[in-house]
Amino acid sequence: MADPVLTFTEKGIFCPAGGFYIDPHRKVDRALVTHGHSDHARPGMGAYLTTHAALPVIRHRLGRIAAEGIAWGEPRRIGGATVSFHPAGHVPGSAQIRVEVAGEVWVVSGDYKTEDDGFAEAFEPVAAHGFVTECTFGLPVYRWQPQAQVTGDLLTWWQGLAEQRRPALVAAWSFGKAQRLIAALAGLAPLPGPILTHPAVEAVNRVLRTQGYPLPDTLALDQARPEDFAGALILHPPSAQGGPWADRLADAETALASGWAAVGRHRQGRGAMRGFALSDHADWPGLNAAIRATGATRVVTVHGYTGVFARWLRDQGYDAAAGDHTPPRDEAD
Ligand SMILES: [Zn+2]
Ligand SMILES: [Zn+2]
Repeated sequence: MADPVLTFTEKGIFCPAGGFYIDPHRKVDRALVTHGHSDHARPGMGAYLTTHAALPVIRHRLGRIAAEGIAWGEPRRIGGATVSFHPAGHVPGSAQIRVEVAGEVWVVSGDYKTEDDGFAEAFEPVAAHGFVTECTFGLPVYRWQPQAQVTGDLLTWWQGLAEQRRPALVAAWSFGKAQRLIAALAGLAPLPGPILTHPAVEAVNRVLRTQGYPLPDTLALDQARPEDFAGALILHPPSAQGGPWADRLADAETALASGWAAVGRHRQGRGAMRGFALSDHADWPGLNAAIRATGATRVVTVHGYTGVFARWLRDQGYDAAAGDHTPPRDEAD
């Protein structure tokens, strides 16, 4: 019997026919990388292949690496495999990777979301025999409201604070969520105040603007004047500690923009007062619809509720199993 197209090893997802890994979590010679989040694009690989759109953020984060960009959908022969990259809708540049070996097609989803957020390249279903799906939110309790509704709620909350001249502080991941929020809010203008960004967010903003992503101007916290803070919306990474600007935030109200905000337990766990359930991952209906759309009969679950989600898929008639060596949770949620 022929080798499987993909195997699940302790270094990551491996293609024996092509001799490459996809989003490896240990050092390998040849890595195909779905996107720039730190649990997918790790340092130390001999060579990287990713989309042209994902590459600038990956270089920004990893520094000098031997990396090559590839266009959306462009087929590339690697050993006995043919690979191509297709939009995953998760963050700018994020890809699903299609791998074909001797007529058998597998698609590795990376992280994905099915709602078009109007900023990242929209998710594109890719026909396959087998699909490796993430399942960060692979439980029926996770069902997102449309982005327009969540950002509308967030704007209402911000307006209320701006009327009191108080800052609205939103915890959002520095690559992906923050920019998606900025772009979505810009579409709701006029806004009640300026958008200020943590320097880690602003650094990614600059990279994406240089690439041509339509991101309006924002002001970095370390460049802001004292009077900029009253009524401002401030975006900072969830893990960020206070900076020189901390005393300007004394009367701020805090919120978390994350899929986990849909569940109160997580909201309290991160110490945020408010939750806006805006996720860069597919919700339960999104996961199920995406899997159906591939036409795949075989599914491997990674990244999240792998065991229960694989069991659910088996009950639906799929040949499904949890992938081994699932990496830790994403820096986006
Ligand atoms: Zn991600
Ligand atoms: Zn991830």
